[in-house]
Amino acid sequence: MLNAAQAPVRLAGGLEVPAWALGLAGLALVATLTVPQSPLSLVRCRVKPSGKYFWPMNPIKPDDGSGRVIPDTKFLDPEYPTEYGLHTGVDLNGPVQPRFGADSDLGQPVHAITDGEVVFAGPAGGNDQSWGNLVVIWHPGPAVWTRSAHLRDVLVRKGQCVSAGQQIGTVGKGYNGRWPAHLHFDVFKKKPVAWDDWPMHRRQYLLDHYVDPMEFFRKVSPQFPPRWAGRK
Ligand SMILES: [Zn+2]
Repeated sequence: MLNAAQAPVRLAGGLEVPAWALGLAGLALVATLTVPQSPLSLVRCRVKPSGKYFWPMNPIKPDDGSGRVIPDTKFLDPEYPTEYGLHTGVDLNGPVQPRFGADSDLGQPVHAITDGEVVFAGPAGGNDQSWGNLVVIWHPGPAVWTRSAHLRDVLVRKGQCVSAGQQIGTVGKGYNGRWPAHLHFDVFKKKPVAWDDWPMHRRQYLLDHYVDPMEFFRKVSPQFPPRWAGRK
Protein backbone atom coordinates (compact mmCIF):
# COMPACT_ATOMS: atom_id res chain seq x y z
CA MET A 1 0.00 0.00 0.00
CA LEU A 2 1.22 3.46 -0.87
CA ASN A 3 1.64 5.99 1.88
CA ALA A 4 0.88 9.64 1.24
CA ALA A 5 4.46 10.46 0.21
CA GLN A 6 4.50 7.66 -2.38
CA ALA A 7 1.06 8.23 -3.86
CA PRO A 8 1.33 9.60 -7.39
CA VAL A 9 -0.19 13.00 -8.08
CA ARG A 10 -1.80 13.78 -11.41
CA LEU A 11 -0.74 17.15 -12.77
CA ALA A 12 -2.56 19.19 -15.38
CA GLY A 13 -1.99 17.51 -18.74
CA GLY A 14 -2.21 14.03 -17.29
CA LEU A 15 1.40 13.71 -16.15
CA GLU A 16 1.73 11.57 -13.03
CA VAL A 17 4.58 12.26 -10.62
CA PRO A 18 5.22 10.84 -7.15
CA ALA A 19 4.17 13.09 -4.29
CA TRP A 20 7.72 13.09 -2.88
CA ALA A 21 8.97 14.69 -6.11
CA LEU A 22 6.48 17.52 -5.73
CA GLY A 23 7.72 17.96 -2.16
CA LEU A 24 11.30 18.29 -3.38
CA ALA A 25 10.24 20.79 -6.03
CA GLY A 26 8.41 22.77 -3.38
CA LEU A 27 11.48 22.78 -1.14
CA ALA A 28 13.61 24.01 -4.03
CA LEU A 29 11.12 26.79 -4.73
CA VAL A 30 11.07 27.86 -1.08
CA ALA A 31 14.89 27.85 -1.03
CA THR A 32 14.96 30.02 -4.15
CA LEU A 33 12.54 32.50 -2.63
CA THR A 34 14.24 32.77 0.74
CA VAL A 35 17.96 32.90 -0.16
CA PRO A 36 18.72 36.62 0.17
CA GLN A 37 21.60 36.74 -2.29
CA SER A 38 21.51 34.31 -5.19
CA PRO A 39 24.78 33.91 -7.13
CA LEU A 40 23.20 35.76 -10.06
CA SER A 41 22.60 38.83 -7.92
CA LEU A 42 26.33 39.13 -7.36
CA VAL A 43 26.95 39.70 -11.07
CA ARG A 44 27.71 43.34 -11.59
CA CYS A 45 25.25 45.09 -13.82
CA ARG A 46 26.31 47.30 -16.70
CA VAL A 47 24.91 50.71 -16.00
CA LYS A 48 24.19 52.94 -18.96
CA PRO A 49 23.84 56.44 -17.50
CA SER A 50 20.76 58.18 -18.88
CA GLY A 51 21.73 61.62 -17.61
CA LYS A 52 18.34 61.84 -15.88
CA TYR A 53 18.06 62.85 -12.22
CA PHE A 54 15.23 62.67 -9.68
CA TRP A 55 14.56 63.81 -6.17
CA PRO A 56 14.46 60.77 -3.91
CA MET A 57 10.91 61.55 -2.71
CA ASN A 58 7.72 63.28 -3.84
CA PRO A 59 6.17 65.06 -2.05
CA ILE A 60 9.23 66.46 -0.37
CA LYS A 61 9.32 69.36 2.03
CA PRO A 62 8.25 72.06 1.35
CA ASP A 63 5.39 71.34 -1.01
CA ASP A 64 4.75 74.92 -2.08
CA GLY A 65 4.95 74.28 -5.81
CA SER A 66 8.18 76.22 -6.14
CA GLY A 67 10.29 73.15 -6.73
CA ARG A 68 12.57 74.22 -3.91
CA VAL A 69 13.44 71.64 -1.34
CA ILE A 70 14.62 72.43 2.15
CA PRO A 71 15.83 69.53 4.25
CA ASP A 72 14.79 69.29 7.87
CA THR A 73 18.32 68.81 9.00
CA LYS A 74 21.04 70.07 6.81
CA PHE A 75 24.33 68.77 5.63
CA LEU A 76 26.80 69.09 8.54
CA ASP A 77 23.97 70.41 10.70
CA PRO A 78 25.62 71.96 13.74
CA GLU A 79 22.56 71.03 15.80
CA TYR A 80 22.97 67.36 15.01
CA PRO A 81 23.66 65.50 18.25
CA THR A 82 27.39 64.97 18.41
CA GLU A 83 27.03 61.60 20.10
CA TYR A 84 25.86 60.27 16.73
CA GLY A 85 28.88 61.65 14.91
CA LEU A 86 29.16 64.00 11.99
CA HIS A 87 25.97 64.32 9.95
CA THR A 88 27.23 63.94 6.38
CA GLY A 89 23.81 63.92 4.74
CA VAL A 90 20.41 65.57 4.83
CA ASP A 91 17.16 64.45 6.42
CA LEU A 92 14.20 64.65 4.06
CA ASN A 93 10.54 64.57 4.99
CA GLY A 94 7.15 64.75 3.40
CA PRO A 95 5.60 68.21 3.05
CA VAL A 96 3.74 68.67 6.30
CA GLN A 97 6.24 67.49 8.84
CA PRO A 98 7.69 69.71 11.48
CA ARG A 99 11.34 69.10 12.15
CA PHE A 100 11.67 65.50 13.29
CA GLY A 101 7.97 65.75 13.90
CA ALA A 102 5.61 63.08 12.71
CA ASP A 103 5.36 59.85 10.81
CA SER A 104 3.02 60.92 8.02
CA ASP A 105 5.69 59.95 5.46
CA LEU A 106 6.15 56.46 6.88
CA GLY A 107 6.02 54.13 3.89
CA GLN A 108 6.48 56.91 1.33
CA PRO A 109 8.39 55.64 -1.74
CA VAL A 110 12.12 56.38 -1.97
CA HIS A 111 13.63 56.57 -5.45
CA ALA A 112 17.08 56.17 -7.03
CA ILE A 113 18.28 59.65 -7.97
CA THR A 114 19.89 58.39 -11.17
CA ASP A 115 21.00 55.16 -12.84
CA GLY A 116 23.28 52.91 -10.84
CA GLU A 117 24.25 49.61 -9.32
CA VAL A 118 23.06 48.56 -5.87
CA VAL A 119 26.13 47.79 -3.77
CA PHE A 120 24.38 47.29 -0.43
CA ALA A 121 20.76 46.60 0.46
CA GLY A 122 19.49 45.56 3.84
CA PRO A 123 20.03 46.11 7.54
CA ALA A 124 23.26 47.76 8.63
CA GLY A 125 24.97 45.47 11.06
CA GLY A 126 27.11 45.71 14.16
CA ASN A 127 27.85 49.14 15.49
CA ASP A 128 26.04 50.66 12.52
CA GLN A 129 22.68 49.05 13.16
CA SER A 130 21.04 52.29 14.24
CA TRP A 131 20.97 53.18 10.54
CA GLY A 132 18.33 50.51 10.11
CA ASN A 133 17.86 49.40 6.52
CA LEU A 134 20.20 50.96 3.97
CA VAL A 135 20.33 51.09 0.19
CA VAL A 136 23.69 52.16 -1.20
CA ILE A 137 23.98 52.77 -4.94
CA TRP A 138 27.03 53.49 -7.10
CA HIS A 139 26.16 55.95 -9.86
CA PRO A 140 28.86 55.78 -12.59
CA GLY A 141 27.43 58.75 -14.54
CA PRO A 142 28.19 61.45 -11.94
CA ALA A 143 30.75 59.14 -10.24
CA VAL A 144 29.11 59.36 -6.83
CA TRP A 145 27.44 56.89 -4.53
CA THR A 146 24.36 57.58 -2.50
CA ARG A 147 23.16 56.20 0.81
CA SER A 148 19.47 56.07 1.68
CA ALA A 149 19.02 55.20 5.34
CA HIS A 150 16.34 54.31 7.93
CA LEU A 151 14.26 52.60 5.24
CA ARG A 152 11.18 50.65 6.27
CA ASP A 153 11.14 48.50 3.12
CA VAL A 154 14.04 47.60 0.83
CA LEU A 155 12.90 46.79 -2.70
CA VAL A 156 16.24 46.14 -4.41
CA ARG A 157 19.11 43.69 -4.00
CA LYS A 158 22.86 43.87 -4.10
CA GLY A 159 24.15 43.71 -7.67
CA GLN A 160 20.90 44.96 -9.16
CA CYS A 161 20.90 47.68 -11.80
CA VAL A 162 18.47 50.48 -11.03
CA SER A 163 17.30 53.19 -13.39
CA ALA A 164 16.90 56.88 -12.65
CA GLY A 165 13.77 57.42 -10.57
CA GLN A 166 13.16 53.74 -9.86
CA GLN A 167 11.66 53.05 -6.43
CA ILE A 168 14.26 51.40 -4.18
CA GLY A 169 12.46 51.38 -0.83
CA THR A 170 10.18 53.27 1.52
CA VAL A 171 10.67 55.81 4.28
CA GLY A 172 11.06 54.27 7.70
CA LYS A 173 12.00 54.97 11.29
CA GLY A 174 15.41 53.34 11.53
CA TYR A 175 16.50 50.47 13.69
CA ASN A 176 13.86 49.59 16.29
CA GLY A 177 11.80 52.61 15.26
CA ARG A 178 14.42 54.90 16.70
CA TRP A 179 13.53 58.05 14.75
CA PRO A 180 10.42 59.83 13.58
CA ALA A 181 10.02 58.68 9.97
CA HIS A 182 12.35 60.45 7.53
CA LEU A 183 14.85 59.68 4.80
CA HIS A 184 18.50 60.19 5.63
CA PHE A 185 20.32 60.79 2.34
CA ASP A 186 24.05 61.09 1.67
CA VAL A 187 26.17 61.65 -1.45
CA PHE A 188 29.81 60.55 -1.54
CA LYS A 189 32.35 61.03 -4.29
CA LYS A 190 34.68 58.31 -5.56
CA LYS A 191 34.00 54.62 -5.46
CA PRO A 192 35.43 52.85 -2.43
CA VAL A 193 38.40 50.66 -3.28
CA ALA A 194 36.92 47.55 -1.69
CA TRP A 195 33.16 47.24 -1.62
CA ASP A 196 33.45 44.41 0.86
CA ASP A 197 34.32 46.95 3.53
CA TRP A 198 30.85 48.39 3.23
CA PRO A 199 28.67 49.47 4.93
CA MET A 200 30.22 51.69 7.58
CA HIS A 201 33.44 50.26 8.77
CA ARG A 202 35.73 52.79 7.19
CA ARG A 203 34.45 55.89 8.87
CA GLN A 204 37.42 57.95 7.76
CA TYR A 205 36.65 57.14 4.13
CA LEU A 206 33.15 58.56 4.55
CA LEU A 207 34.45 61.68 6.24
CA ASP A 208 36.97 62.19 3.43
CA HIS A 209 34.46 61.82 0.60
CA TYR A 210 31.10 63.28 1.57
CA VAL A 211 29.60 66.08 -0.49
CA ASP A 212 26.69 68.41 0.24
CA PRO A 213 23.63 66.55 -1.13
CA MET A 214 21.66 69.75 -1.75
CA GLU A 215 24.59 71.27 -3.63
CA PHE A 216 24.72 68.11 -5.72
CA PHE A 217 20.98 68.37 -6.47
CA ARG A 218 21.34 72.01 -7.47
CA LYS A 219 23.90 71.04 -10.09
CA VAL A 220 21.90 68.21 -11.67
CA SER A 221 18.42 69.83 -11.66
CA PRO A 222 16.41 66.76 -10.66
CA GLN A 223 12.82 66.17 -11.69
CA PHE A 224 10.21 64.81 -9.30
CA PRO A 225 9.31 61.12 -9.27
CA PRO A 226 5.60 60.21 -9.32
CA ARG A 227 3.79 61.85 -6.43
CA TRP A 228 2.86 59.63 -3.51
CA ALA A 229 -0.82 59.80 -2.64
CA GLY A 230 -0.20 59.08 1.03
CA ARG A 231 -1.07 56.17 3.22
CA LYS A 232 -4.46 54.68 2.63
ZN1 LIG B 1 20.18 62.13 8.98
